[in-house]
Amino acid sequence: MTDSKGTTQATVSTLPAAADNPVFAAPAGTRTAADVVTPELVARLTRDVVGSGKTRNHAPATGAKLADLPESTPEDVATAFERARQAQYLWARTPVRQRAAVLLRFHDLVLRRQAEVLDLIQAETGKARLHAHEEVQAVSVAARHYGRKAPSYLAPKRHTGVTPTLTRVTELRQPRGVVGQISPWNYPFELSVGDALPALVAGNAVVMKPDTETALTAMWARELLIEAGLPAGVWQVVLGDGPVIGPAVVQHADFVSFTGSTRTGREVAQGAAARLVGCSLELGGKNAMLVLRDADLDKAAAGAVRGSFSSAGQLCISIERLFVHESVADAFVERFAARTRAMRLGGDLAYGADMGSLVSERQLATVRRHVDEAVEQGAKVVTGGRARPDIGPYFYEPTILDGVRPAMAVCEEETFGPVVSIYRFTDEDDAIARANATPYGLNASVWTRDGARGRAVAARLRAGTVNVNESYAAAYGSAQAPMGGMGDSGLGRRHGSEGILKYTEAQTVAQQRLVPLAPSFGLSHEQYAQLMTRGLRAMKALRLR
Ligand code: NAD
Repeated sequence: MTDSKGTTQATVSTLPAAADNPVFAAPAGTRTAADVVTPELVARLTRDVVGSGKTRNHAPATGAKLADLPESTPEDVATAFERARQAQYLWARTPVRQRAAVLLRFHDLVLRRQAEVLDLIQAETGKARLHAHEEVQAVSVAARHYGRKAPSYLAPKRHTGVTPTLTRVTELRQPRGVVGQISPWNYPFELSVGDALPALVAGNAVVMKPDTETALTAMWARELLIEAGLPAGVWQVVLGDGPVIGPAVVQHADFVSFTGSTRTGREVAQGAAARLVGCSLELGGKNAMLVLRDADLDKAAAGAVRGSFSSAGQLCISIERLFVHESVADAFVERFAARTRAMRLGGDLAYGADMGSLVSERQLATVRRHVDEAVEQGAKVVTGGRARPDIGPYFYEPTILDGVRPAMAVCEEETFGPVVSIYRFTDEDDAIARANATPYGLNASVWTRDGARGRAVAARLRAGTVNVNESYAAAYGSAQAPMGGMGDSGLGRRHGSEGILKYTEAQTVAQQRLVPLAPSFGLSHEQYAQLMTRGLRAMKALRLR
């Protein structure tokens, strides 16, 4: 198609056949989702779900029903909280080292039995096995980190008292009680158990509402954690429609841990605020990657593939906006497009595919709308831009768009699919300003051969994590450091000390010795005030904090 200025515009329908991504076919005999998700497995995994209604989930690779599942009512949610509260009492009194040992045993079990959960993740999400393995890695890192560090994060801390040596002050960390956890479908292993581990090791019980479409993965994680030593009552599960039972979870929780969309996150925050309970919110993003003029273009192109198309872009920290310095833009786009076109698509339960399916018709519809509207308004499809029903009902090609302008939905709204737009810049300040011009602030990425320059640019980006010469995994995988969103991307952080202390209440115990904090030993009020004034001056001179 040629526009009024005579420039060639590729459209969805005029893409050459050669742009099709190859299909990955697993070796004959590879098991299917139906082979893996047997009625016996479903019955075993779901027997502890509090609820007797009926619901079901689906296999994205085929669109077919995967399993019949129990469904909970708001009354079932209340029951789950009662059970969790009873179990939490003893769990909180279990020494923290014993609780942490459960996580370390869980770590080993996850790595040993990973094939089982990889099958389930693939069956329920349709993602490529390589991307499912990211979840195994992330959960193992979280289990190791909190298994090793929870005792020191939670240990009582001594502080200098108001009258040094005379006031003995200890800060304790008390569990909040029962944490309500609501998690999405896109990383069902990591965002269920990965986030539950710090809550549990801190002495809380958890009532979890995983997304129904990926509930089996969360239930498998629960079963394995019980095998590692977690008392079963400490982790309760409810299943059902978010708008129906989600508010009930918020209604009963002592703290809410929510991961999902910004829209739902606002509702959850309002529910928690009305009850004066805390919440942490891990929400959406419109994440930017900056390719500076001195970047290694081959590495940046490979990083852009990982950043934009992992889990078919259904990753909160995935890259949807790619700012490239004008002087290297053509060379970069050529490399990025070549790698993207070569990606093999497939939904088989085996390693080999570079990208899997979208999770649902709804996700596919958003991706189609964003790409088609952008193309209608003049954007150019560099590669991709098509659904691939020949592979499965929700497959969509990894797609690079050029010529995207601010009025287009794909420029500003989270797509949550395998679509990334190229924007060119000549001035680094301008690139930083454009990258920051979004209400979101979750993740960003900077590519340069100069590490110090990359870190300096990173510090100017408004995002909770910034990766230099990596897309997202370096920051997310570093579990000692906090991860989370600024602005509309969330409240609070997972990982590091913040990721566990949010599940606790700080309690200060101050013991006063020998003299009271009041006039005593016959001192008049005025003499006491003078003594305290001298004491305050002395404490500053002695550099007490
Ligand atoms: P969603 O908000 O629709 O659903 C998330 C969870 O909330 C589900 O379990 C759902 O059933 C439940 N829910 C729905 N309505 C509810 C309500 N009214 N009250 C309480 N719970 C309710 O999000 P989604 O489409 O499942 O997930 C995709 C979104 O999640 C994307 O925006 C993505 O960026 C975000 N996400 C963020 C992170 C992060 O760490 N920041 C990680 C993964 C996904």
